[in-house]
Amino acid sequence: MSGTAGQVIRCKAAVAWEAGKPLVIEEVEVAPPQKNEVRLKILFTSLCHTDVYFWEAKGQTPLFPRIFGHEAGGHFCALTLASFFPPFCAADVRIVESVGEGVTDLQPGDHVLPVFTGECKECPHCHSEESNMCDLLRINTDRGVMINDGQSRFSIKGKPIYHFVGTSTFSEYTVTHVGCVAKINPAAPLDKVCVLSCGISTGFGATVNVAKPKKGQTVAIFGLGAVGLAAAEGARVSGASRIIGVDLNPSRFNEAKKFGVTEFVNPKDYDKPVQQVIAEMTNGGVDRSVECTGSVQAMISAFECVHDGWGVAVLVGVPNKDDAFKTHPMNLLNERTLKGTFFGNYKPRSDLPSVVEKYMNKEMELEKFITHAVPFSEINKAFDLMLSGESIRCIIRMDG
Ligand code: NAD
Ligand code: ZN
Repeated sequence: MSGTAGQVIRCKAAVAWEAGKPLVIEEVEVAPPQKNEVRLKILFTSLCHTDVYFWEAKGQTPLFPRIFGHEAGGHFCALTLASFFPPFCAADVRIVESVGEGVTDLQPGDHVLPVFTGECKECPHCHSEESNMCDLLRINTDRGVMINDGQSRFSIKGKPIYHFVGTSTFSEYTVTHVGCVAKINPAAPLDKVCVLSCGISTGFGATVNVAKPKKGQTVAIFGLGAVGLAAAEGARVSGASRIIGVDLNPSRFNEAKKFGVTEFVNPKDYDKPVQQVIAEMTNGGVDRSVECTGSVQAMISAFECVHDGWGVAVLVGVPNKDDAFKTHPMNLLNERTLKGTFFGNYKPRSDLPSVVEKYMNKEMELEKFITHAVPFSEINKAFDLMLSGESIRCIIRMDG
């Protein structure tokens, strides 16, 4: 048990006070974890476009002040109530019993990756082999509080600060639901594997678990950020014969070659829809496509560029609040399949540890995704680097 267990911790956090305004490093109070919760010390975090997007308040519900961040690596500083209430206290025995079961596999000091979508291990989704959309803990970008009591664990001088997707890793300490943390190999370097908390697992899984290209097939990837490049990596390891990268930013093309992308299409270079360009390049369409942009136009193109009869398109990007996906129903009747995924269909607690092992066994490279690193005090630089399209992933070192 750590010396801070059960106490409020005062630490630094990067607070977003307003949409689109630079984050401010503040001293925050982080309340102790409650039932089925854990408090984590974050060592490394990185910036994903989903953070930027909700910070810009293009997402569903703008909630401010808020602590963003969801790609991170850390370890436990304190466990649940189970670890710091003496079991002889009658009132707390009840709490220990209701908590203990869910946290028996975790110890202070364990290395973990927090994940924006959880796995309660009890609901029909968690029991299904096909779904990772846990009833209790699936991604909810509108919720800024903990499920247990509807309150935030973060405050500044008593004023609550909202959580983000249950992780809020832009803080030296954070509280998450126990179902949103994956215990990983303690030998895995957290400054590398933290990117598996979201973007890289999402893109890789979208291809290998959802699009499932067969050896020799043609795959189009829309958006060559970290998520799209990981999707390309998934296509490469699946043995795709051609990987067509689509992006509006031509500076991404050079980088993408390292991820097995064989051809590039910039929709801006053509005066016809990009789906038509791709259909002409591939004798009627690609076998699989994976959309990783968040642009609804790209989503429609990604669907319409797959071959009729067997093509499968997978949507990964997070759309704008008022977007609507519009296509002619004939495109579906002609035996194209449209799918979507969160977190590449991985179940965070059950599957993520084995994705970390893929990195440890050198079956998956993470270094090539990590283009920049900044100390926590310069977290706003990470935002600038992503907005300018310069970075793929920028690691934020919490000790700096
Ligand atoms: P990123 O900004 O690094 O990359 C996005 C890329 O898409 C950029 O290179 C951009 O130039 C390109 N792009 C934008 N509009 C385009 C268009 N119309 N056509 C072609 N290319 C276009 O972002 P990222 O971190 O790689 O994330 C990609 C998307 O995936 C975001 O929408 C993010 O919110 C989403 N995401 C979803 C999940 C999930 O579980 N479903 C998880 C993580 C991220
Ligand atoms: Zn569940």
